[in-house]
Amino acid sequence: MRKMNFFAGPSTMPVEVLEELRDQLVDYEGQGLSMIEASHRGGMFEEMYDECLATFRELMGVPENYDVYFLGGGATLQFAMIPMNFLLPGKSADYSKTGTWSNKATSDAKKFGSVNLFFDGTESNFTTLPDPKSVKPSPDSCYMYLCSNETIGGIEWQDFPDTGDVPLIADMSSDILSRPVDVSKFAMIYGGVQKNLGPAGATFIIMRKDMLERRNENLPAYLDYGLHAKEKGLYNTPPVFSIWAVKCNLDWIKRNGGAQGMLDRACKKAGMLYDTIDSSDFFRSPVDKRYRSRMNVVFRLPSEDLEKKFVKESQEAGMLGLKGHRSVGGLRASIYNALPMEAVENLCSFMKEFERKNG
Ligand code: PMP
Repeated sequence: MRKMNFFAGPSTMPVEVLEELRDQLVDYEGQGLSMIEASHRGGMFEEMYDECLATFRELMGVPENYDVYFLGGGATLQFAMIPMNFLLPGKSADYSKTGTWSNKATSDAKKFGSVNLFFDGTESNFTTLPDPKSVKPSPDSCYMYLCSNETIGGIEWQDFPDTGDVPLIADMSSDILSRPVDVSKFAMIYGGVQKNLGPAGATFIIMRKDMLERRNENLPAYLDYGLHAKEKGLYNTPPVFSIWAVKCNLDWIKRNGGAQGMLDRACKKAGMLYDTIDSSDFFRSPVDKRYRSRMNVVFRLPSEDLEKKFVKESQEAGMLGLKGHRSVGGLRASIYNALPMEAVENLCSFMKEFERKNG
C-alpha cells in the first residue's frame, strides 16, 4: 500500500510516472541502454531533452522570445545568480519579504547591491501579502522580485503586480504548473522541480531573451545566464535523471488537462481542507484568507501537544509529512499536483475524527 505523501518537497509523484521510470530504467525504449547511462551529448538524451523543453513551453504557454532550460544547484543557487547577473552597480532591486524563501533571496541580494523592500511581512508574521495593484517599482530598480508561493508559510500570490518596464522575477518552486500563468508578465520564472515537476536535482529557468543584454557579463562560467542560454542548459553535465523524470511528469500533466486541469484539482483539494479548517473551532488557519496557498495548507491545533499527537496518529494512519516546518511549527499539508484527491478526502475525515476525540 502506498503512503499518502504530504511532504513539502521532495514530494509525491504520480504512480504512473514512477512505473514508467521503473519500466524504462534498464532499457530505454528498446535502445539497449538506460537514459541515466547515456551521454548528455548523444542523440538519446538530446531527443528526450528537446521533448521535455517543448512540452514545458507548451504547458506554460511560453512565448518565443524566452529561453527555457534546466540547471543544477537548486532554487537556492538562483538566489545568488539573479543579483549577480542583474543587480547592476549604482542601481537597486525591489524585493518582497513574504516568508522564508523570499527572505533568503533578499539576504543574498543584499550581498551584491542595494535592495528596496516593497513589502515586509515581518510584523504580520508572514501571514499576508500586499495587494498586487498597490505594488510599484522604485525609480532605479533593475528588477522586482517575489516568491509566488511561500512553501513554509502557506501563502500564495493569486495575482501579480504590473511592473511596467521593470523586469519581474518570480520563484515559482512550489506552485509551478499548478495553475495557468501569463508568462509574458514576467522577465524570469524559476524554481526547483522537486515539488510539482519531479525528483530533486533540476532547476527550471524561463527567461526573456532581452534580460541577457542587461546582465553583468563578467562572471564565472556557471554563474552566467548568457552561457546557459546559449547552451540551452547543457554547458556542463545536466541532472539527467531528474530531467528525464520531469519529462515523464510533464506528459502526465498534459494528459490530465495541463495547467487548467491542475488548477481544477488544486482548487478541489485545497477547498476541502480549508472548509474542514474553517468549519471547526478546533483547527485554525493563520493565513489571510485572500492569500491562502492552494499547494501548502498550514494549520494549527489548540496546543502543541495536540499537534504532536496529530502528527503521530496521522503517520500511523499512513499519512506522511504533516508536521509543519521546524522553523514555524504547527501542521502543514502539501497537496501538490500529483497528490490524489483520495489522500485529501482521507485527511479531512481523519481531522474530523481527531477533533471528535480530542476537541
Ligand atoms: N524556493 C521555494 C519557494 C522553496 O520552497 C524552496 C525549497 N523548499 C526553495 C526555494 C529552495 O529550493 P532548493 O532546495 O531547490 O534550493
